[in-house]
Amino acid sequence: MPEGRPSVPMAIQRDVLVEAGHRCAIPTCRQVPTELAHIDPWSKVQEHTFANIIALCPTCHSRYDQGQIDRQSMLQYKANLSVLNHRYGDLERRLLELFAAEPKTAVIQLPGGFGIMLSYLIQDALLVPVDMGGNRGYIMGMPAAECFGLTEKGREFVTRWAQARPVD
Ligand SMILES: [Zn+2]
Repeated sequence: MPEGRPSVPMAIQRDVLVEAGHRCAIPTCRQVPTELAHIDPWSKVQEHTFANIIALCPTCHSRYDQGQIDRQSMLQYKANLSVLNHRYGDLERRLLELFAAEPKTAVIQLPGGFGIMLSYLIQDALLVPVDMGGNRGYIMGMPAAECFGLTEKGREFVTRWAQARPVD
């Protein structure tokens, strides 16, 4: 680290970590701990800005510094984080992460009543309630468990996100 380089201001550190949910911003990684990485290197920009800093785990940070992940992909990961954070809730983002990390998983079972927390994914037709058949039982008039399946559009969305392509 060159002498005289100021540390990243606390407000930017916090915003960058919150943006990535305190996990590596690479959707197929999502490991902890995280480090702050400059998308355009400090040596070139000589400033700390929210737009140019992203949270990465040490492994992905090294891969980026060694050129194994390109700048365009990193910019897109950053842009996609913003879209996901503004459009979907915490449970929805976790489900998208799970589907991104496990491409063979297309249906997930959740406790009954969780549908409301997935309503934006359902509205956007990325996710649909799935009737898996059988008697699942009811608790106070609500199904004990419900299943949700990733649609074709949902799989495309998750794949685009995982591959650092625009999700919009
Ligand atoms: Zn990582």
